[in-house]
Amino acid sequence: MRVSVVAGNWKMHGSVSFLEEFASDLAGALAHAGPNSGSVAPELLIFPAAPHLALARSMLPPEVAIGAQNIHAETQGAFTGELSAEMLDDMGIGWVLVGHSERRALFGETNADTAAKVQAAERAGVAAVLCVGETIDERRAGRAAEVVLAQLNAVLDVAGLGWLERGMVAYEPVWAIGTGETATPDQAQEMHGVIRQALAGRDADLASKVRLLYGGSVNPENAAELFGQVDIDGGLVGGAALVVEKFVAIARAVG
Ligand code: PEP
Repeated sequence: MRVSVVAGNWKMHGSVSFLEEFASDLAGALAHAGPNSGSVAPELLIFPAAPHLALARSMLPPEVAIGAQNIHAETQGAFTGELSAEMLDDMGIGWVLVGHSERRALFGETNADTAAKVQAAERAGVAAVLCVGETIDERRAGRAAEVVLAQLNAVLDVAGLGWLERGMVAYEPVWAIGTGETATPDQAQEMHGVIRQALAGRDADLASKVRLLYGGSVNPENAAELFGQVDIDGGLVGGAALVVEKFVAIARAVG
């Protein structure tokens, strides 16, 4: 049985006062028969902006894991503005997002960069959540599976499978991120099935255990149906993760 996960990507949002309020409200919600009260307890994970990582670790309830939204592939050096996986590990930050579509589209991150970052995370003992997903043009051209598999295989060919002992893959169709347009449960399941099958082609046992997350305008209304799909083990949530009530409602939707 795969333990479900609900992860919040705060992107470049937040402040100290936002964190204080979010932390206090989340602690209250979890104390009141929170999402962990069901038969399946979702793991909760928050990816705050880099300056808030340490604050988030100290303020958010200890059962909430913290991750960074990006890393550099090198351990240290003259890379002004960057941070390494080793620095995260040193700070007790156990997770990192790799290859988010905004990193790919806005900052020119290639599949090769993404593979190097996954390797860097594994080297430091930090678990990676690899984001993959097609654009609307790629989907309309019937290339969704091809694009997603190219993104996945580019990492697996270089980094192997070891990072997936803890790491996860998030399927995030670019056209659904921050748009309010969600993939239908069938569309999402189809792509998750493609991803799990590709993993099974390399290691069937590992593929059956890896958590695959859906991301793209998840909200409290659509979460239960998405998370009810056989290969969807939870969600990577952007906008709705900035509102405690929505984040907790989504976590409660994990069956
Ligand atoms: C994301 O940022 O990864 C995301 C899925 O955002 P949203 O939920 O706002 O679409």
